[in-house]
Amino acid sequence: MEQVAEQIITRHRHELKRRELTVTSVERLTPHMLRLTFTGEDLADFTSLAPDDHIKLLLPGDGDKPEMRDYTPRSFDIARRELVVDFAIHDAGPATAWALDAKNGDTLMVGGPRGSAVVAPIFDWWMLIADETGLPAMGRWVEELPEGTQAITLGAVPGAEDQQDWTTKASHEAHWVHRPVAQAADSAPLLDAAQELALPEGRGFIWIAAEAKVARALRDHFESRGHPRTQIKAAGYWIMGQADSSDKALD
Ligand SMILES: Cc1cc2nc3c(=O)[nH]c(=O)nc-3n(C[C@H](O)[C@H](O)[C@H](O)COP(=O)(O)OP(=O)(O)OC[C@H]3O[C@@H](n4cnc5c(N)ncnc54)[C@H](O)[C@@H]3O)c2cc1C
Repeated sequence: MEQVAEQIITRHRHELKRRELTVTSVERLTPHMLRLTFTGEDLADFTSLAPDDHIKLLLPGDGDKPEMRDYTPRSFDIARRELVVDFAIHDAGPATAWALDAKNGDTLMVGGPRGSAVVAPIFDWWMLIADETGLPAMGRWVEELPEGTQAITLGAVPGAEDQQDWTTKASHEAHWVHRPVAQAADSAPLLDAAQELALPEGRGFIWIAAEAKVARALRDHFESRGHPRTQIKAAGYWIMGQADSSDKALD
């Protein structure tokens, strides 16, 4: 176990395992989000300690090697051997295509999580900002926050019908901006909305997950408002125009 960033974030390593899972349900959660539920005996020792953990989906590719893409364990139930993954729908890509085609009984190999970066539960408030790809982590995070904490979320989705509701013991203030998926790499909609958000009193942690350029612009914005860098975690969950790309640390 390695302690970093003033012990705000603790990194845990997990045994790297590949698991074979079977689709048990496909649900259109919102117009631009598909929810797939998987089952498999291999989930008996599945571990995910942080809401922004990721697993690797091993998808059929053109060559010998599988295509790998990162997805969030949206929720899991070890006793039921169940794992839920939400897929944001965009135009291209093997992961999206596979999910759109998936039927009950289909199988998929999944690797990880290789590790979890757990943020210490020491904050009075949490600000979570994400595009569609970060909504699974955002939803899980909000749901896991305890009573007495404050969650402020800002999500970017195409329309009101793409917004999600989450149940939480925290006090939750939800903000949404609407823009088409084709505009998801434009920083302006989230940045304009972020500028309107007041940072509450007390100690706060800001988490950002979006297209890399958008996430960087948001991180720079909160730093320029004097929020400590060690209390911001920003990740590029995808990079415009590049398949199989992310920038998890944005450095
Ligand atoms: C830690 C982590 C967790 C993630 N969790 C999730 C999750 O739970 N659910 C989820 O849906 N995604 C998640 N993502 C994002 C996902 O891995 C990427 O969107 C991935 O590129 C999708 O793979 P693909 O095969 O569909 O597209 P790719 O083949 O990787 O990309 C094809 C093209 O589509 C573009 N593209 C990729 N994603 C988008 C998008 N969202 N909107 C518009 N264009 C896009 C790329 O720039 C590229 O030009 C996560 C990423 C990370 C790093």
